[in-house]
Amino acid sequence: MQFTNIEEQMAASEVADYTRLLESIKKPEAPASVAGIELLCTGNASGVDNMINAVPTGGFRLSSGDRHIQIDPGQGTLRMLSTLHINPYTTTDVFCTHAHDDHSGELVAMVSAALNLNLADSRPHILVNPTLASYTDPMSMSYGFSLPSVAWQNGKVSILYPEDMKVERFDGKMIDTVKSVDIGDGITVSPTYCQHNSPKAIGFLIDTPYGRIGYTGDSQHFDGFAEQFIGCDVLWMNLNTLGLSSSSGNGETLRLGAVKNHLGYAGACNLIDTVKPKTAIVSHFGSQLMTRIIEIESALRERYSAQDTEVHCTVNGRVYAFPESLANGPIVKMYGDRS
Ligand SMILES: [Zn+2]
Repeated sequence: MQFTNIEEQMAASEVADYTRLLESIKKPEAPASVAGIELLCTGNASGVDNMINAVPTGGFRLSSGDRHIQIDPGQGTLRMLSTLHINPYTTTDVFCTHAHDDHSGELVAMVSAALNLNLADSRPHILVNPTLASYTDPMSMSYGFSLPSVAWQNGKVSILYPEDMKVERFDGKMIDTVKSVDIGDGITVSPTYCQHNSPKAIGFLIDTPYGRIGYTGDSQHFDGFAEQFIGCDVLWMNLNTLGLSSSSGNGETLRLGAVKNHLGYAGACNLIDTVKPKTAIVSHFGSQLMTRIIEIESALRERYSAQDTEVHCTVNGRVYAFPESLANGPIVKMYGDRS
């Protein structure tokens, strides 16, 4: 078969373009090294708003030095990163609390990104709750968000749970859960209990050289819930509702314990009262609350005006920077704004 010069040149160009593409995956252009800790909101909505409006859900990105940890890569995370001009292949580690689409809908994609498609020799820490690593428990499999087997081949997978248990992996091997993981750079992660309509959902305590961060994950209020986070300088809370019970829409509003499965407003207040964090960041708003975020923030700030807690209701792309210590209030800016 004879090819024209144009055809030959076209094919040669593809080789060059593909080589550049591979380099951008293996060695993505890294963001500037982060002094201290930065927390970036990559999705402040919960599942229903994602379904209706395709807005990003889930969690946040914790950056420190050259580490960029995606926590709860819910649906829309990739789109959010792309909007912020963040190359997902710069993700160094992935943590995930439970198998709901607004927390783990893009877990597989973000694990692939952290593994750099196995083209580079990255060994990301991948921290998940028990159901995300179980391939046999029908409750675990019900939403289909299990960790891909490739994660175990090249990643450092840890199954976190506050109790000892064994989880059956994809190949039948039984894996022990752990109560704490040292991921290096002085960062240690341990799980907290949740009560949620996803089995064995967890939250995280993240100890860093700059102080302690608590992340509630999804949970209703229960006795002992708030106490798990005592000592946290920064508390990232998932507030899904003010007072509704998620299955019925009925609510005995603003009463502790009225809300099932998620944290209600009274539960969030109980957390702040008990933990007294320096900074409380509220996220994961239910679809019915998306137009009321500023109102909610004002009410919480009014309530805690006399207490040494700064309350922030977050929006997508907002960064909370703690250059020296988590014990100080954050510098708040939008991602990419260096002023
Ligand atoms: Zn959930």
